[in-house]
Amino acid sequence: MSDNINTQSRRSFLKTAGIAGVTGIGAIISPILSEASGEKDDSAQSSKALTKMPTRTFGRTGVDVSILGLGTMFDVVSNQLMLKQALKWGVNYWDTADCYSGGNSEKGMGKFFAKYPETRKDVFLVTKSCARSTDGMTRLLNQSFDRMQTNYIDLYFAHGIKDISEINDDTRRWAEDAKKAGKIKYFGFSTHSNMEKCMMAASKMDWIDGIMMTYNYRIMHTSAMKEALAACTESKIGLTAMKTQGMGQAANSDTETQIEMVDSFMKLGYTDMQARLKLVWENPKIASIASQMPNMTILAANTAAALNTTKISGTDQILTRQYAMETASTYCRGCTDICESALGGEIPVGDVMRCLMYHRQYNDKELAKSVFYQIPEQTRRSMAGIDYSRAEKKCPHNMDIANLMKEAVEQLV
Ligand code: SF4
Repeated sequence: MSDNINTQSRRSFLKTAGIAGVTGIGAIISPILSEASGEKDDSAQSSKALTKMPTRTFGRTGVDVSILGLGTMFDVVSNQLMLKQALKWGVNYWDTADCYSGGNSEKGMGKFFAKYPETRKDVFLVTKSCARSTDGMTRLLNQSFDRMQTNYIDLYFAHGIKDISEINDDTRRWAEDAKKAGKIKYFGFSTHSNMEKCMMAASKMDWIDGIMMTYNYRIMHTSAMKEALAACTESKIGLTAMKTQGMGQAANSDTETQIEMVDSFMKLGYTDMQARLKLVWENPKIASIASQMPNMTILAANTAAALNTTKISGTDQILTRQYAMETASTYCRGCTDICESALGGEIPVGDVMRCLMYHRQYNDKELAKSVFYQIPEQTRRSMAGIDYSRAEKKCPHNMDIANLMKEAVEQLV
């Protein structure tokens, strides 16, 4: 009984803490709003807040991009206000992909650029292609032009590579030709599996201008990620962090450390989610964070975090690391070479884990299902009956792979 009461009270505390933090946004973001309306802001918080979105140079491109990027994994056609407001608040790095929201992300941008053509030059536009063949990339790039009502892309990514062999000399020639033709300005890839290995390999390729990779408080301290980041920075590759809030796949139980951490963040004026962004921005090697911001509340909260100059303390960083360790088995780190090879490459464990994250943490069943249904039907059917013990033994983070795969099949089919 007492355990139940404790769990309940912890949960309500965390919930209340989140709301209290979000309410504080008004004070932090008011300088931008006052600036827009021409009013003077007198609040005490204004002394801690910048009035302009900070920018960082994106690798060798030399382009200054907003440290907060607009992730658009949502129906942008129906949410045009998000684009307008993002630009108004200085969020000029826009991230989409041909597959986001069944094409409605790119189409929504097209609707916006058709209505406000003068804004196209102000946006650093990033889109991605799931194709690997050069013919496929050409077809999808042309489709992106049609949908987005533009004739060039600032940064074009091969989407979601797991191994550097997915891009090769043909890809390089294709990227060089597309640059010469003025269709793309820069080329690179995104990765949420085996990120560190892909990044290390890319650091030795002089034609990769940018990489977007999973990067958050759970991953940033590993020596493999630190080395990969240093190698890419040395090679002047621009870096965009994604999945920065480190939301896991398995149900998360609240821990005492989490309560202490949230309480401490609140004293700095941050919610838990805002603080996770700040932890990533602490690293100057990260040029921008592509953050999914499907509504105004999240856009305002993240903008406020970008403008707030209060640093996360060393003690808070230690608490965050401790929390990451305590909940390690709830978060898949994308080291898919390990578990997928243990299963003979039969099951794309990493992709299924990503679907579960979209479903459980983003609360977006449609997105989870759309990614899940890209897995071949036969694999989806066999998934629940596989013996996962070999993969579980090898998983360095003790993830309950069998039950998570079963859960994905039950919830997403
Ligand atoms: S299940 Fe384990 S081994 Fe596989 S990618 Fe996730 S964390 Fe790595």
